[in-house]
Amino acid sequence: MRIAFTMDDLPVYPHLALPEGYTPASVADSIIAGLHRHKVEGVYAFANSWPLDVDPQTATVFDAWISAGHPIGNHTHSHPLLNDVSGDAFIADITAADELLKPWLDRAPQKLFRHPLNLWGNTEAKRSAVNAHIARLGYTPADVTSFFFEWEWDRAWRWLMQTGKTTEAEALKSEFVDFCIVQLAYDQKCCREVFGHDVTGIALGHFVAFLAEVVDPLMGRLRREGIEIVPLAEALADPAYERVGSLVTSSFQVYQQKLSAAAGKELASVAPSSKDLMKRVFALAEPLRPARRGQLVQNKRGPNP
Ligand SMILES: [Zn+2]
Repeated sequence: MRIAFTMDDLPVYPHLALPEGYTPASVADSIIAGLHRHKVEGVYAFANSWPLDVDPQTATVFDAWISAGHPIGNHTHSHPLLNDVSGDAFIADITAADELLKPWLDRAPQKLFRHPLNLWGNTEAKRSAVNAHIARLGYTPADVTSFFFEWEWDRAWRWLMQTGKTTEAEALKSEFVDFCIVQLAYDQKCCREVFGHDVTGIALGHFVAFLAEVVDPLMGRLRREGIEIVPLAEALADPAYERVGSLVTSSFQVYQQKLSAAAGKELASVAPSSKDLMKRVFALAEPLRPARRGQLVQNKRGPNP
């Protein structure tokens, strides 16, 4: 199996402030170190520029990512959700990130854009206006074929730590690594059904504390399983990825799921054999989940809470 590994929300996941003892810089450094240890190179981090407004020092996190040999892509300025805002507001947000992130975007081999929560537009007017704007600025949109739901695992892990269940919290780390392998195989199978051939998958991680903790064992396990990790450009060369942003949808789903749903067949988000495990993880995550999906904490806490 071949995958490209990508990251979203550099320098800081906007939906839950980092726990004590972690900073955007420390999380990025841990992830850089884990990738380096397993020779995983050229990992695109799709970045938001809002933290530069709150603290100009954030630039050092972008610099560190680039210095480690990883490119940066545009993930909008303030992480608006296209379901909730006008096309014009979303477009202005893309342009703001394009300008503020220019020093780093210019160093990427390819200008890539990722929609926040992979939302392509819940009306035709928004979808087509945003697509046209992305193209006008020279971006190729890059979607995702594998969610690891590490933002949910992060909440579950933190809740267990907060409630003194440290053994159970620690156990989540190896359960997560096992889950990722099962999920990758499931997503690959779904892609084969939807596209008619094996595609190079695009997996996603976020800059949350839990991923900083598990990135080293996760990358080691991917290597041991013989999963080949390739640059994102290699994955995107497959015409299967030409349908990013091709249909109106309000769903927070991976790429093949959105296409399959539009063709009349809903695919489960989670591998059937992991259903019970993920039920437990989602339940543990519940107390730390924002009241509304995609709710932002950024303006209250800033990037260095
Ligand atoms: Zn995001």
